[in-house]
Amino acid sequence: MADPIKLHGAKVQSGRRRGEDEMKASNQAGERMGGGEGDDKRQRFLSSLESCTNLPSPPVLAAQLVELGKNPDVSIAEVSRLIGLDPATSAKIMRLANSALYARQRKIENLRQAINLFGLEGSLSMALSISVVGELRGNNERQSHFDFGHYWRRSIASATACQVIGNALAAGRREEVFLAGLLQDIGMLVINAWSADFYQSMDGRPVTHEDLQAFELDMLGMDHAAVGSHVLNAWSFPDILVNAIAGSHHPLAGSVSQEFITVAKVLNVASDIADLLNGGVSGDNDFLLLEKKAQELLGIDREKLTEVISAVAEEVQPLADLFDIDLGENFVAGMIADQAREVLMVRNLRAIQEASVLKQVNVNLQRKTRTLEEENRRDPLTFLYNRAYHDKIVHEEFSSAQENHWPLSLAFIDLDHFKAVNDTYGHQTGDAVLQRGAQLLVQATRGSDVVARYGGEEFVIIMPGTAEDGVKVVCRRILEAFRQTEFDSPADAEPFHVTASIGIAAYHPDAGFETAEDLVRAADKAVYAAKLAGRDRMIFYDTRYND
Ligand code: GH3
Ligand code: MG
Ligand code: MG
Repeated sequence: MADPIKLHGAKVQSGRRRGEDEMKASNQAGERMGGGEGDDKRQRFLSSLESCTNLPSPPVLAAQLVELGKNPDVSIAEVSRLIGLDPATSAKIMRLANSALYARQRKIENLRQAINLFGLEGSLSMALSISVVGELRGNNERQSHFDFGHYWRRSIASATACQVIGNALAAGRREEVFLAGLLQDIGMLVINAWSADFYQSMDGRPVTHEDLQAFELDMLGMDHAAVGSHVLNAWSFPDILVNAIAGSHHPLAGSVSQEFITVAKVLNVASDIADLLNGGVSGDNDFLLLEKKAQELLGIDREKLTEVISAVAEEVQPLADLFDIDLGENFVAGMIADQAREVLMVRNLRAIQEASVLKQVNVNLQRKTRTLEEENRRDPLTFLYNRAYHDKIVHEEFSSAQENHWPLSLAFIDLDHFKAVNDTYGHQTGDAVLQRGAQLLVQATRGSDVVARYGGEEFVIIMPGTAEDGVKVVCRRILEAFRQTEFDSPADAEPFHVTASIGIAAYHPDAGFETAEDLVRAADKAVYAAKLAGRDRMIFYDTRYND
């Protein structure tokens, strides 16, 4: 369900728009061709857009996301709730979070974890990307000669390139830049919706992206970057999109504001990379121009550009899948410039082309390897994760918590007087207690927690994303479960009870833990304190235990 496009709103007509300077920049060539004449055309075209009824429009979810994004106090919980209302978008966000692009050790199991991973801005941007593309695709695609296939291949390649470059430049706004790349040519969809014959009338002319812009300027007084920016502004989309897209064709025009210039430059280069992969670069000369541009605009040298292009070629497939865009057979393989081929050879172009076939084989292999790995990670007696795996995970989760500023709790559990169990009932019964105890721990925790056997009768539970309050609930549950459980004794002797002592250390940015080892050591010290205090209890780590 879509809102009608709000081009008629007072907002658009009133005075200066965001990105207006950039739009002018984008139209400089137009001004050159005849000053006022270009301006007149632009005005005429814009008024004609105003009265056009079949323009694309943003879906309801996108409008809501945009609204939410404007609130500086918006919480992750609110964003999760809104996205959660749309099952299709939620499912795609989860898929993306679990894709190789965001390679993580552990599976993201719910929307909230995925949203934690992307961050607030990132989640808003990805949800916007997914909902907008979902809406725009299939919209009147059949009624036009416009090459939608080409359009979406180019958009997804450009968005992927934006993300790769954004990452490389450590722009820290990976998902927003991705969205900008995805929507940078939305003006073409608008123009096509305005007049289905528009691009058809280009017949016979060469069609590089520059030719296209020149044609649009000539006919409309503005190019598709300016049109796209105009429409996104009317939709109240974030400033970064409105401005960066407006400036994307001429990022060096003095009028592009400093805040968005880097993204405008990234968009410009990404667009050329998309052309290259999509068979739209016609010769070595074009490729050399791309090289030169990447160097000038972004300081990316040849070697780095090679890496970027290869990374895009590798990463575009899963993203295209996510957005249901068919890349077709000639994508990547259709690159024309020899120089581009040569450059990509460094990273083995064939491997990239065959990647999709190999991928299936790989998936099967990986599945097998995963089963084996899974066995290697497990403790044979309790089937909990073993010490080696614990050590690996605790480091990963610690870094992840540090990077993302989310909490991480660790509980160290040591069974009380366990030696006496062995001495009284024998080693086998002791083993059975460990097995049953392991079950109690797993039952008391969530799927996203890692329960490991640390050694003998000692266990550790790693709880990512869980702060003190949460860990307290879990540990109370564990203590209670042990108290309630009757362990079988051998022969017909009375069942017996075993209690546990728990030491807890909770990481948060101000907790003073510098490394994962600090955290484990702290939890270990807290168990010791619990033992001293009389066992069968939990104690939070306190710096006094260092004395
Ligand atoms: P505390 O309350 O102070 O923790 O006393 P405790 O007896 O539990 O502590 P201690 O560390 O002295 O003893 C641990 C015992 O756990 C000694 C060891 O034989 C036993 N143990 C370690 N691994 C296993 C195992 O795999 N199976 C069995 N049955 N016992 C084990
Ligand atoms: Mg012990
Ligand atoms: Mg013990």
